[in-house]
Amino acid sequence: ASSSTCSKAEAGEGDKTGEEDDKDDKAAQSLLNKLIRSNLVNTTNQVEVLQRDPNSPLYSVKSFEELRLKPQLLQGVYAMGFNRPSKIQENALPMMLAEPPQNLIAQSQSGTGKTAAFVLAMLSHVDPNNKFPQCLCVSPTYELALQTGKVIEQMGKYYSEVKLVYAIRGNKLQRGTQLQEQIVIGTPGTMLDWCLKFKFIDPKKIKVFVLDEADVMIATQGHQDQSLRIQRMLNKQCQMLLFSATFEETVWNFAQRMVPDPNIIKLKREEETLDTIKQYYVLCNSKEEKFMALCNIYGAITIAQAMIFCHTRKTAGWLAGELSREGHQVALLSGEMQVEQRACVIDRFRDGKEKVLVTTNVCARGIDVEQVSVVINFDLPVDRDGNPDNETYLHRIGRTGRFGKRGLAINMVDSKFSMNVLNKIQDHFNKKIEKLDTDDLDEIE
Ligand code: ADP
Repeated sequence: ASSSTCSKAEAGEGDKTGEEDDKDDKAAQSLLNKLIRSNLVNTTNQVEVLQRDPNSPLYSVKSFEELRLKPQLLQGVYAMGFNRPSKIQENALPMMLAEPPQNLIAQSQSGTGKTAAFVLAMLSHVDPNNKFPQCLCVSPTYELALQTGKVIEQMGKYYSEVKLVYAIRGNKLQRGTQLQEQIVIGTPGTMLDWCLKFKFIDPKKIKVFVLDEADVMIATQGHQDQSLRIQRMLNKQCQMLLFSATFEETVWNFAQRMVPDPNIIKLKREEETLDTIKQYYVLCNSKEEKFMALCNIYGAITIAQAMIFCHTRKTAGWLAGELSREGHQVALLSGEMQVEQRACVIDRFRDGKEKVLVTTNVCARGIDVEQVSVVINFDLPVDRDGNPDNETYLHRIGRTGRFGKRGLAINMVDSKFSMNVLNKIQDHFNKKIEKLDTDDLDEIE
């Protein structure tokens, strides 16, 4: 068996294509990122700030002291190991803490400090002497709400008068309950019920309304509508904050309906490039031959950490099984695993407990494993129609400029069809993909 101790799911079951993993996906991906991320993503890009009132001076802070936080909160921030505000926090925090409160729409990739920022804003704005809800935070799923709740608890560790309650399905309160907690965090449906149907919350007393993961939110039918209905029950003066990792047109439209007169903060993702990557292909005739070729180069690739991408769960399971049978220690990341299980597999891989991770594309999309320097495309990335998927190719093997450690990509070709895909990818990026002779590996070392 493959030796990852996290993996209970049996390899080789199911023959879904990676794409079918898509369904469960945005929320799971986001949760996965939270579970595996332990520090800030580095970025060299500049924050773009659009102020509602362009004449007012643009404040940004370089330290948490400048924000004049309550001492209990400053203590909480430092206890979390934060020394200084992240890039988006430099601009977002002064806006969110200003008097009178300002509305904000902020977009930046996962891991840039959004959650920490709005948690700090909520904790700063509540009055612990008032025993009723003053901040609402809606998240797309129960699990994501719990993650945010954990951050509130950590940051509020020295501010224990502030209490938190989860508005999630399954948390059933007695009719007529008046909530005492200052912060309510939950999913849109239950939150709406608590405001409208059960009246556990008086929306007119809410000072801060946070909508987290807007891009994930709008992927679920009904969430937009429920969020808007909550928003309409709030006072005009209530501060509205909306966060998203991506910003397509649909997210933007939703954001503008949710947040009147917003300030806007955007931070571009670091661009990926192939400039620091050596790309090869290996010519084979079948899946089995690809496996043999992989075994030939195995010694060379496991000097570093390697990720191997397959098109289907079935192939990924098969390959992981075969490699294990050869005595190699590999981890398998597969769509049928629970998110926590996936996070555990990735954690072990990050820690170097396994040197090789076999996965499908969808499963690994959006995961940053910076130390991976070898990527094997056991199957080339293609879309549903079998056309080359250039974007996925770039995302699998590309490096961001700044952390552009040299990398190695090896593409397994097993048919005329896949050779054709490879050629198109080569043309698209206008970067040569060299042929590799797996009996003579001097080249890649
Ligand atoms: P996002 O919500 O954008 O995904 P988070 O707020 O969850 O980002 O932050 C990502 C990681 O960075 C978390 O582990 C968090 O504890 C940490 N973090 C956030 N802000 C800071 C900071 N100012 N300094 C150091 N670490 C931070």
